[in-house]
Amino acid sequence: MNNAKELWEKMLTNLEIEVSAVNFDVWIKTLEAVSIIDGRLVLMVPSEGSRKFVTEKFSDQLTATMQEVNPSMTAILIIGPNDADTYRTERDNCVAEAEETEETTKRVEANVINPKYNFENFVVGKSNQFMYAAARAVADEPGSRYNPLFIYGGAGLGKTHIMHAIGNSVRMSHPHLKVLYASSEKFVNEFIESIRTTKGNSTHFRDKYRNVDVLMIDDIQLISKMPRTQEEMFHTFNDLHGHNKQIILTSDRPPKEISPLEERLRTRFEWGLIVDVQPPDIETRIAILQKKAQAEKYNIPFGVLEFMAEKISDNVRDMESLLNKVIFLSRLYNSSPNIDLVKEALKDYTDKTEESVSADRIVDCVCRYFNVKKEELVGKKKTKEIVEPRQICIYLITDMLALPLTTIGAMFGGRDHTTIMHARDKVAEKMGQNPKTQVAVTDIKDMILKK
Ligand code: ADP
Ligand code: MG
Repeated sequence: MNNAKELWEKMLTNLEIEVSAVNFDVWIKTLEAVSIIDGRLVLMVPSEGSRKFVTEKFSDQLTATMQEVNPSMTAILIIGPNDADTYRTERDNCVAEAEETEETTKRVEANVINPKYNFENFVVGKSNQFMYAAARAVADEPGSRYNPLFIYGGAGLGKTHIMHAIGNSVRMSHPHLKVLYASSEKFVNEFIESIRTTKGNSTHFRDKYRNVDVLMIDDIQLISKMPRTQEEMFHTFNDLHGHNKQIILTSDRPPKEISPLEERLRTRFEWGLIVDVQPPDIETRIAILQKKAQAEKYNIPFGVLEFMAEKISDNVRDMESLLNKVIFLSRLYNSSPNIDLVKEALKDYTDKTEESVSADRIVDCVCRYFNVKKEELVGKKKTKEIVEPRQICIYLITDMLALPLTTIGAMFGGRDHTTIMHARDKVAEKMGQNPKTQVAVTDIKDMILKK
């Protein structure tokens, strides 16, 4: 039996008899079977807070029952919802794709202000300092300065985090103010519902969105193509703005690029302050990973953090899930976090995003780009015309594939791993100084990924 849900169903039948009715209802029935990994059944508690308790109180009992049902299983692993993503992606198992998507949307749609996201645990760097400063200013004096505050930037860069941080901060320092956070989807859905049930005459919807001191709408770009929602948003906006109520919006692009969008709404989005957030630089990425690891009370050597930060650069959410996976694997193997674990954890990413990329393909593209022969590229020749392409090729392989340096060394005529490291760092350095190198690397990468 290798299906976690099936195993768990059978265990439940036994457990119902074995544990008290209260314990069964409160603690056992609420567990969710997530997956089976290397003979371990991964169970998820519904809230982080109960993880320790459930682990201490029920682990032995659960393990015993599991082995009654299936003697080849070895252990139980109890996780919290924060870790769920990591364990689900792990070796497929029980969660059907559809179910997973539903889960994710549910999470996205959660419309309460999440206390987990605050200013204190947000790492500030060059890439996000304007967003951060503007958010703090707005949180200190909502409605009096930048109104609306419009934040835009790519996925996973902390826009939702910073919005919740504003919400939490306002609730702390201005407890009398009413703060409302909603995803665009929520706003749209509730509006449609109000049209459906009351033909748009519902005061409930209006009251809800206009009787607030701070209104936050996440991912506002999603209301493009929805003229009636835009009209409603227009009136909501005017009402709130006219009363000096704070409006905060996020989007994946600036107002001028949201299309189609009513012009009068666009100009209003531009009335206040527009700030963007960029992908974090390497130092900030390391700091973010460090902070998250510390929050998990997990100690990861600097070199390992650095390696992780090098591998994922433009999405903090992906960095987090990589970190979770590394923590998970190191617990699973009972070993301290190291580069090999990161490489194993990275397999998912490399598989997903760069499925078709192989070292051969990279070598091929570099040869074509610089018009050199493969034998020369991996050979011993030290002329400038060949050394630079070779270094760039090595850089691209380390960048795009999770291969051990020694393996790469072997591919390049048995070079030492320190030589590979040197070549890699050299190109990284050059890219910072010389736009030509930067362009070459980007172009070749495009070639490699295009296929
Ligand atoms: P977005 O809304 O821009 O897509 P999120 O706010 O959902 O991104 O951020 C994705 C994840 O990355 C969240 O868990 C968030 O806490 C984390 N994150 C992003 N930027 C930072 C940062 N600068 N410091 C700490 N955590 C961050
Ligand atoms: Mg978001």
